[in-house]
Amino acid sequence: MPGTGSSPRPAPTVLISGASIAGPALAYWLHRHGFVVTVVERAPELRTGGYKVDIRGAAIEAVERMGILEDIQRASTDMQTGAYVNGAGKRIATLPADIFGARLGRDDEIMRGDLARILYDRTRTDVEYVFGDSIASLTTVDEASRASRASR
Ligand SMILES: Cc1cc2nc3c(=O)[nH]c(=O)nc-3n(C[C@H](O)[C@H](O)[C@H](O)COP(=O)(O)OP(=O)(O)OC[C@H]3O[C@@H](n4cnc5c(N)ncnc54)[C@H](O)[C@@H]3O)c2cc1C
Repeated sequence: MPGTGSSPRPAPTVLISGASIAGPALAYWLHRHGFVVTVVERAPELRTGGYKVDIRGAAIEAVERMGILEDIQRASTDMQTGAYVNGAGKRIATLPADIFGARLGRDDEIMRGDLARILYDRTRTDVEYVFGDSIASLTTVDEASRASRASR
């Protein structure tokens, strides 16, 4: 701090492996709590594949606190009905989606790729993303400074 003679501690850094769902969500929270975050993803770009995933219960509160609830609602599959078919593919029963999927209250459903994209977009300006790479080894700060001293 200016005038006190002591320099501020550098922000702790963290490296997260995998830019799917858990990686960017963790990156969001760690950034908010003062970490400098890098996410490394072995795929060359964000993986947007996958089928439908449910956002329910505690997940609703989590995405609300992350400020992405409205993005998720906009990307909702908005499924209206679910149908049972027989072995020949003939529809034998249809149910409203809320009953079919046991949906309650603000429960929602979006495509996994949309969720990955929303989490990535929410974090990409605050977090460094490195695609097409993965962690080969980790070096502690002590090891790095020992190696630096030894090379002088
Ligand atoms: C392309 C894809 C499609 C999916 N589709 C569905 C679906 O339709 N329905 C469903 O319920 N679940 C699906 N899943 C799984 C779902 O995303 C996870 O089960 C859950 O959301 C947990 O996500 P996660 O972030 O912990 O792990 P994952 O979603 O498994 O993601 C792990 C990420 O880490 C990356 N990675 C792995 N090893 C390394 C490494 N050594 N270095 C760097 N990066 C690495 C992977 O490429 C991936 O992007 C899918 C996952 C993927 C990757």
